[in-house]
Amino acid sequence: MTPRDRHDGFASTSLSETAYRMSVAVINVSGMDATQTLRPETAADVAALVRQAQAGRQPVTVIAGGHGPWSHAPAEGVRIDLSALSDIQVDGTLVGVGGGATWGAVADALTEHRLAISSGDTRSVGVGGLVLGGGIGWMVRAWGLACDQLVGAQVVTASGDIVETSARENPDLFWALRGGGGNFGIVTRFDFAAHPLPGIAFGEYIIGDHTDRATVLRTLRDVLRDAPRQLTVTYMDVPAMDPSAPAGARLSAAWAGADADALRHVLAPVTDIVGVVGEVTSPDYRDILAEMPPADPDAAPPGFLGGNGLFGELGDELIDRLVAFRSGHPASVIFLRSLGGAFGEVAQEDTAFPAREATWFVMAGGFDVPGMLDDTLRAAILADADAIAAGRLAEYGNFLPAERPDAVPGMFTDAAYARLRELKAKWDPQNIFRRNHNIIA
Ligand SMILES: Cc1cc2nc3c(=O)[nH]c(=O)nc-3n(C[C@H](O)[C@H](O)[C@H](O)COP(=O)(O)OP(=O)(O)OC[C@H]3O[C@@H](n4cnc5c(N)ncnc54)[C@H](O)[C@@H]3O)c2cc1C
Repeated sequence: MTPRDRHDGFASTSLSETAYRMSVAVINVSGMDATQTLRPETAADVAALVRQAQAGRQPVTVIAGGHGPWSHAPAEGVRIDLSALSDIQVDGTLVGVGGGATWGAVADALTEHRLAISSGDTRSVGVGGLVLGGGIGWMVRAWGLACDQLVGAQVVTASGDIVETSARENPDLFWALRGGGGNFGIVTRFDFAAHPLPGIAFGEYIIGDHTDRATVLRTLRDVLRDAPRQLTVTYMDVPAMDPSAPAGARLSAAWAGADADALRHVLAPVTDIVGVVGEVTSPDYRDILAEMPPADPDAAPPGFLGGNGLFGELGDELIDRLVAFRSGHPASVIFLRSLGGAFGEVAQEDTAFPAREATWFVMAGGFDVPGMLDDTLRAAILADADAIAAGRLAEYGNFLPAERPDAVPGMFTDAAYARLRELKAKWDPQNIFRRNHNIIA
């Protein structure tokens, strides 16, 4: 049995699955006319649509996996669904991926080659949205972000030209694609350098109700300080969603390699804590990606109050705040993923992604499911989440479930933000690609 098979039972590993379960009462977006969505089949088709949008000064909405906030917002201008551009070509370790493919399809295609690319944790998430914003997944300490695996991309620019980008061709555009989001054009093909991966070990643990969360988090933090980069962990503590997914704290750990005993050994200080119960299995990489239904273009995801941050240190004070936040708000969620390792070895100026010195990604907030929160609870969640976010180095745009123009500068270093604005003026002066965390020139 793989982690994917038992997704509805033991320990769920995806924060997004939590969101999904809590969105049973989804909100229909009124006014969106699905027939306006255009599905080009080639890069040339995409270029023709962009030229049309440019001529009419219309904004372009781009949809790959459809999990971003703009896919659900009422249509404005030209809406381009890239799902027909989903080819995956494997040539040695070089992998060409269509701009509309999903990470599940990529993982499936690479399994027979014993290869993998550092991706997100969910099959139906699009390669496009995730990689353009960075991409923090199960292999982030072993290999870096998803965007760190990118070696080239074919892009339809705002002028409707089809250009190649890499470290040698249009390097400024290539730099902006790695963290700057969908601001600079429509990527019709991503070129990745994949990694040989003969096997992985994957541990899933439940933290018992009577086990002190702060002790678990401090021990986990201490383990990760010296752990080999093969180890990436996720810790989440969530409210009850349905009978198969009770409230509770869970720890999941991926090890980039087949040595299950190495994972058990390195995690022992945490798993030896009384009340931490689980097991290590040896699935394929594709099997640790969570199953979730594809994004529904006619339904908005549940609201999420709160925010996230890339943190230099997971200090004791931050841990205490997180634990108090979770126990103080019944509808709250905390989610942490370890960074460091290969993520931290990419030079800050090499990509647009911020905070390479961060050692943890932390999210704290509450799902605003209708009927669950009143105004007082909303205000309390927001105030406490703001206090948690105060020490962060930067915010991660991909995990913001809504458009937040005020937050955009805080998603980058000052130097990167200034450079992104210059590149926006160069590559998209009319800002037709503005349905994203928008960089304004
Ligand atoms: C279920 C779920 C699981 C997640 N897990 C993770 C995770 O493990 N790690 C992580 O880092 N993030 C994760 N995220 C966040 C995820 O990275 C973002 O939601 C991302 O924007 C989703 O990309 P998409 O292609 O599915 O969405 P879309 O809505 O299709 O795209 C989002 C935006 O990206 C841009 N875009 C997408 N494709 C292209 C393209 N080819 N060319 C130009 N612009 C493009 C557009 O601006 C678009 O509005 C998760 C989100 C969800 C809902």
